[in-house]
Amino acid sequence: MSFVLRSATLTLIGVLAAIQPTFSLLAQGTKSTKTQRLPLDVLVIAPHPDDEVIGCAGIILRALAEHRRVGVVVITSGDGYPAIAAVVGQKDKMEVGPADFLKAGALRQSHSVRAMARLGLPKEDLTFLGYPDSGIESLYTRNSSAPFVQLFTRKSETYGVTVPDYHSLVHGKPAPYLKASLIGDLVEIIRERQPKEIYVTHEGDTHGDHRAAFWFVRDAVRDANFQGDFFTYVVHGAPPIQPPDRRLKLSKSQAETKQAALVDHQQGTSPVHDQLAATYMKPEELFWRVRPATESTQ
Ligand SMILES: [Zn+2]
Repeated sequence: MSFVLRSATLTLIGVLAAIQPTFSLLAQGTKSTKTQRLPLDVLVIAPHPDDEVIGCAGIILRALAEHRRVGVVVITSGDGYPAIAAVVGQKDKMEVGPADFLKAGALRQSHSVRAMARLGLPKEDLTFLGYPDSGIESLYTRNSSAPFVQLFTRKSETYGVTVPDYHSLVHGKPAPYLKASLIGDLVEIIRERQPKEIYVTHEGDTHGDHRAAFWFVRDAVRDANFQGDFFTYVVHGAPPIQPPDRRLKLSKSQAETKQAALVDHQQGTSPVHDQLAATYMKPEELFWRVRPATESTQ
C-alpha cells in the first residue's frame, strides 16, 4: 500500500473509531487495540488449529512478505479430539473427561500461536473464536434456541484457555453456542477489519466442521456485504473437479517455513499427529473462488 493510500486509510480509521461503538469496545477489551483496528488485506479462517497452516501458510507468508496485513481466525480450539485429549491427559481414550479436552484445546491453541509467530504474524492478528470442535456442523444445522452443549468439554459458550475467545475480549462476556453467535462474530470481524480477500475451507471438504465453516463464512460474507475475493481450500477429501482459481507454488524458503509450522502443530500430541507434516506438506496451495452470484444457498 502506498504512503498516500495508507494515510487516507488511517484517516478513515480515525473517523470510524469516532463513530463506531464497536471500535471503543475493542479498545476496552483488548491489549493491543491499535493493531487490531487496522484493516486487513487477507483474512484466513480455519475451523481448527492447524488448518490455517495446512491450507494457507503460503498465502500468509506471501502477504506478509509484501507488507500486507493478514488476520487469522480459528473457529474452534481443537478441543473435541479424544485421541489428543488422551495423550495430554495421559489416560486411555475411553477415560478422558472435560478437563482433558480443555487441556487439549489449550495445547492446540498454543500450537497456532507458535506456528503463526513462526510465519511472522503479529499476535494481535491471531484470533480464536472458541466455538466447539466437532460441533460446528450441528451448530449450523440444529433447530434449537437452546445453546449447544459440546459433548467433550461440556461447554455451552465460547472460551479460550491459552488465548481468550474473541467474544469475551470484545464484549466482556462469552457468546452462547448458537448459530447466530458464530455468524455474528464473523460478520463483526469482517465489517471491522474490512479484508480484501477471505479464505476458508471448501464446502466439499469431508470433515463436518470444515464444510460448516464454509456455510458460516458464506452467510457472514453475505450479511456483512463483503465485496472482496472469497476463496476456499480443501483439507480433507478430494479436491473439486473444477481447476483451482488460484495456485500458489511455494518457494524453497516458504516450503521450509510451512514444514516447520506444521511440525509446531505436532508438538505434545505424539503419536496422534506424528504424520501431520508428512501428510499435508504439498509443493503448492490451491484455492477455489466462491462467486456470490452462483453460490448455492444452505
Ligand atoms: Zn480441521
